[in-house]
Amino acid sequence: MQDCIFCKIATKEIPADIVHENEQVLVFRDAKPAAPVHLLIIPKRHIPALSELSEEDSGLMGQVHLAAVRVARELGLVEQGFRLVSNCGRNAGQMVMHIHYHLLSGRSFQWP
Ligand code: 5GP
Ligand code: ZN
Repeated sequence: MQDCIFCKIATKEIPADIVHENEQVLVFRDAKPAAPVHLLIIPKRHIPALSELSEEDSGLMGQVHLAAVRVARELGLVEQGFRLVSNCGRNAGQMVMHIHYHLLSGRSFQWP
């Protein structure tokens, strides 16, 4: 997808601090961290938002979640806890129109 910043990160056109990668999924550090640990987990394939998902994406989105958990375990975040969140649409504050989950950890969080 032209002009999508996360597609360009996935194809290495734009550099990022990559934490984990496999064929389908990329995990990298957020450029403006909102917590001591702030990672972004994306499918490499361009899907604009959660609201655009279809049945055929179920395996891919499973891989996205598994990558998040794998990295949380590798970074030793499981005991203290972490938050996994995806903003969808304007009111939720989605700025980048390529599905991504934020993995936040290293401090406590309020809800919502
Ligand atoms: P959203 O608001 O769409 O849920 O989150 C987008 C996130 O992407 C933000 O936390 C923002 O800091 C991060 N971000 C935007 N552009 C870049 C970039 O070029 N590189 C990295 N590493 N993060 C980015
Ligand atoms: Zn994209």
